[in-house]
Amino acid sequence: MSVSELAGAIIESPTLRLNEEARLLRERGEPVIHLGIGEPKNKTPITALLSSAAKLNQADVKYCPTDGLPSLKKAIIRYTEEHYNKMAAPENIIVSSGAKQVIFNLLYTLINPQDEVVILAPYWVSYPEMVKMVHGVPVIVTPEDGSFHPRMADIERAVSSATKILIVNSPNNPSGVVYREEFIAEIVEFCERKKIYLIMDDIYHKLVFDGQRAAPAYEFTTKSLEDTHVITINGIAKLYGMTGFRIGWCVAPRKLVQVMTNIQAQTTSCASPVMQAGAEGALLGLQSFVEGLRLSIQNNRDVMMLELSSFSGVKTFRPGGTFYCLPDFRAYSGNSVELARFLLKKALVVTVPGRDFGMEGHLRLSYSGTVKDVTEGVARIKWALDPNSPNDIYIGDKKLIRDWL
Ligand code: PMP
Repeated sequence: MSVSELAGAIIESPTLRLNEEARLLRERGEPVIHLGIGEPKNKTPITALLSSAAKLNQADVKYCPTDGLPSLKKAIIRYTEEHYNKMAAPENIIVSSGAKQVIFNLLYTLINPQDEVVILAPYWVSYPEMVKMVHGVPVIVTPEDGSFHPRMADIERAVSSATKILIVNSPNNPSGVVYREEFIAEIVEFCERKKIYLIMDDIYHKLVFDGQRAAPAYEFTTKSLEDTHVITINGIAKLYGMTGFRIGWCVAPRKLVQVMTNIQAQTTSCASPVMQAGAEGALLGLQSFVEGLRLSIQNNRDVMMLELSSFSGVKTFRPGGTFYCLPDFRAYSGNSVELARFLLKKALVVTVPGRDFGMEGHLRLSYSGTVKDVTEGVARIKWALDPNSPNDIYIGDKKLIRDWL
């Protein structure tokens, strides 16, 4: 079998691979704890279910407009006005099968071969791979001070005449850091001056804790939606815990949306109207749902921080948003891939290696599950790694003795 060089060079999605490994272990009856995945355990909001069900009940599920159901776009226009204080036209919006597909279509629309895309580490694993898929070059900016907050000076140094895009994700997957407002203001000013597209991946923008706020980039531009270089990505996956519906969208100048629509028309035709109806139901339903989800995740974050604080050698930064944290495990191993494998094998806990996020020596731990998952998951990791922790542990009904420390 001979696959293309480009396709062969694209790495597997580590989170999806780990999900599959965990699923297989669970199927064999193993009591796996999943601290790898970013999806809350909530039930789908009832308004979303009813809206999808109504669409199905019509027994008329057909193709719909490529760029999205007009009624969903109306709900997105309302969302954009409420959260970004911007009046979008329907032509500024395209709906796709997940934020993932929107980002890919956007990169496909903007990138010529060898154009550079600046990505801030730690970064969501898919950005560099998607950039490579469209023949672009990912340029990674890593904060040198060991923090997870990039500095403007480092970004300026990374930018060249070939830079077309800067991708920013705040709150950040995997660190949970909410970028400072002044920083967002600086990058907006910089990108508009240099005519670099600023893709704001706002998929977690309402999942912020302790009264913080994810500063919307639109606040720092006086340009209209047609003239700005700011583009925002959003979706229902994280906001409502509706990952399986696969609906995301983008707000951008209409000339970009037009091209993205052509690309979508030639690849998937449209996102499923049943799922789009569900997204509409979620956006138009009671928004106290999102607040309830946010509060329960903030509580999980507190539990995770408390559990990690008694873990000798592990350095932790307190996340301001998302459902992730990225503790530094270099006291135990410099190889996060081996460490994650070891923890899955010995302690039946799924973690995600920091290497895949541009932060070797760290592990991404998700607290999107239950409080019990968090406490038991961290207890198992401690048992496997920390010589100060008790020597034996119960995993399911099996008593395990640590014999490797
Ligand atoms: N951006 C980031 C930063 C993410 O973490 C994810 C999902 N893990 C996505 C985009 C994709 O979201 P969706 O499920 O809507 O494709």
